[in-house]
Amino acid sequence: MLIRASLLSAPALQELHFEADGGLVVEGGFISDAGAFGAVASRHPGLAVEDLRPFWILPGLVDLHAHLPQYEAVAADGLELLPWLERHIFPAEARFADLAHASATARSYLQDALSLGTTTAVLYTTIHADATDAIFREAEACGIRAVIGKTMMDRNAPEALLEDTATSLRTSEELCRTWHGRDGGRLQYAFTPRFAPSCSRELMTGAGRLARDYGAFIQTHLAENLQELAWVHRLFPEADHYADVYRRADLLGARTLLGHGIHLLPPERTLLRELGCSLVHCPSSNAFLQSGTMPLSAWLEEGLSVGLGTDVGAGPSLSMFREMGEACTASKLRRASQQVQTARLGRVAGITDEQKHQIAEALDLEPQPTLDAAGAFYLATRGGARALGLGDRLGALEAGFEADFLVVDVRLSDPFGRISPNPAQALSRLVYRSDPRLVQQAYVRGRRCFHRD
Ligand SMILES: [Zn+2]
Repeated sequence: MLIRASLLSAPALQELHFEADGGLVVEGGFISDAGAFGAVASRHPGLAVEDLRPFWILPGLVDLHAHLPQYEAVAADGLELLPWLERHIFPAEARFADLAHASATARSYLQDALSLGTTTAVLYTTIHADATDAIFREAEACGIRAVIGKTMMDRNAPEALLEDTATSLRTSEELCRTWHGRDGGRLQYAFTPRFAPSCSRELMTGAGRLARDYGAFIQTHLAENLQELAWVHRLFPEADHYADVYRRADLLGARTLLGHGIHLLPPERTLLRELGCSLVHCPSSNAFLQSGTMPLSAWLEEGLSVGLGTDVGAGPSLSMFREMGEACTASKLRRASQQVQTARLGRVAGITDEQKHQIAEALDLEPQPTLDAAGAFYLATRGGARALGLGDRLGALEAGFEADFLVVDVRLSDPFGRISPNPAQALSRLVYRSDPRLVQQAYVRGRRCFHRD
């Protein structure tokens, strides 16, 4: 198949690649050639051309953190993390004991995610092994690329969502054996201790050991909310900091995805960098639950690996286009707030400049560069793929990469239905004015998994 369309990708953080009249050859699930249409066509004279102009081709989007069972409880507003879990989320998760409900929710969720451009989804389920198996089946059938894990909880949760430690480890291992690496690696398993407060040391240590044994992923939450931080400190007095709780359980490695991590200390960031873990930035969730903002630009500069996640149901939408816009907005609000506080601090009388400097440092008031649409696009494509260890074969439109891509109608984001001649501006509109009808087709490994009628 030789597709003719405009090609837009972000092979690196500050790098957009645009081919106004592009050609993309897809063979055996992979991109075998890409570039200017004339050159590509001349190298493949026998191939039939599928002319998709004026649509654009983008790499498929990678959502690194979301909770599929929370879809029905999405956008339940008004609370911070811990009371929100109790009031809205645990009841929704308890309903996944009903297998028919789990399958139906998974079907809706995965179709909606594909229709919004997510071709790789990293998902938490609930403690229910049967429901997790059903979610894997739905993912297998619809064609999406997915990393999925049964949520593990053996303490500090409602009775209906608690499991004993041995059962949690055994059923997780069984699921991993069944699904990890299925369909040539399209489906993968993530051992998923929910977060430190709902897991015993034994459960976390066991999950770390199993993940290593099977070469599987690990996903959990880290440093999302201040009350959560205080709770972790009380529960694990022996740990140096929150990340150290996971280090002691051997949960941190190159295949570890840590949701949020917005309140991290410098030694925690050093630890994560050294061990090769990735953070998942979920800006709409962080705003929704009043958790805080991540100093994203500073941490990217420090060399931390960061991708993006919707964190549905705390994030209100499955759209990664919207999440990219939220990431840009969050970085702007953070910078604006730093500038306002710096100006106010400058006007305080009765303290020395040295004291003001110390206060500014303690409050982290050094203004950071903001994230632009191109940077967010990178994080949602190749940056996300890198966090999964797939940066050399997923998230770009290059020969040798897996053929996970979107066909989008960029005119829907333009106020006059036109196509901007400036690709950076068109991209900015895609993320700040994302239209739910944007995606016309979504492909995973060359298979069309979504087509808008
Ligand atoms: Zn989450």
